[in-house]
Amino acid sequence: MMGRMTQAATVYGCIEAGGTKFVLGLVASDARILARTRIATAQPAETGAAAIGWLRTAVAEHGRFAAIGIATFGPAEVLHASPRWGFMADTPKPGWSGADIAGPYARAFGVPIGFDTDVNAAAVAERRWGAAQGAENAVYITVGTGIGGGAVINGAPVHGLGHPEMGHVPVARHAEDRFGGVCPFHGDCLEGLASGPAIERRWGKSLSELPRDHPGHGIIAHYLAQLCIMLTGIAAPSRIVIGGGVSQTPGLIDAVRRETRRLSGGYFAGDPMDIIVPPGLGENSGLLGAFALARDAERG
Ligand code: ZN
Repeated sequence: MMGRMTQAATVYGCIEAGGTKFVLGLVASDARILARTRIATAQPAETGAAAIGWLRTAVAEHGRFAAIGIATFGPAEVLHASPRWGFMADTPKPGWSGADIAGPYARAFGVPIGFDTDVNAAAVAERRWGAAQGAENAVYITVGTGIGGGAVINGAPVHGLGHPEMGHVPVARHAEDRFGGVCPFHGDCLEGLASGPAIERRWGKSLSELPRDHPGHGIIAHYLAQLCIMLTGIAAPSRIVIGGGVSQTPGLIDAVRRETRRLSGGYFAGDPMDIIVPPGLGENSGLLGAFALARDAERG
């Protein structure tokens, strides 16, 4: 029932800003998703206007905003001290380089805005409510159109000279892989070899469409396992959450666990079988990531 009680409720505007779609949600303080929709990503001004329009209508029905969280695709300026905070950085996506992402929402609604990468936000949400609960250090990796990763270290999302870019790291070649890679910057970096487009270009199909005995499964697991070992060696996370479209290929997470265990030679603390996990929040990692950013922005 939508009555006066609900009219007075405090809600959070949540935006998962992706390169192909924006997922918008209205989330209650107890993390219930009250309303959600998705819109196709067009040019920045047009997409922002459509998102603001939906949020305005939704909030009029459900309550008032306490804060808004934006979990965005990258690269983006996430450092609070920067005059370009809330803007996109240089991106190959036409029209989006230097676009003001957060500003239009701040002007439209006049509430605190949280802004971070989609993967940093997902790492925060998975640690707060999902598969990485209780982890002092946790990483969230997405394997889909691209490969990206965010991290929470000692309880806080990682910002440094920008934000982590875990997909663009060099990896050792699988002996049977002769593919040149698709990264426009590096060719055969991890993203160049193991992202969805790399898989489609190399084998003409998505990983889940390939037969179960196709060598592609082992090759992709080999590359993703190397990232897991790098992360383990550098940040000792107690959970590495792997999400994104490619990660939903049946058997892939298990193959990455086994390959990580094999390549690590028993050297590191912890068992990859326990450390490497699918998202506990499922497809809501992104939207609840935006919610986590909104909550943190509200607290200042
Ligand atoms: Zn690259």
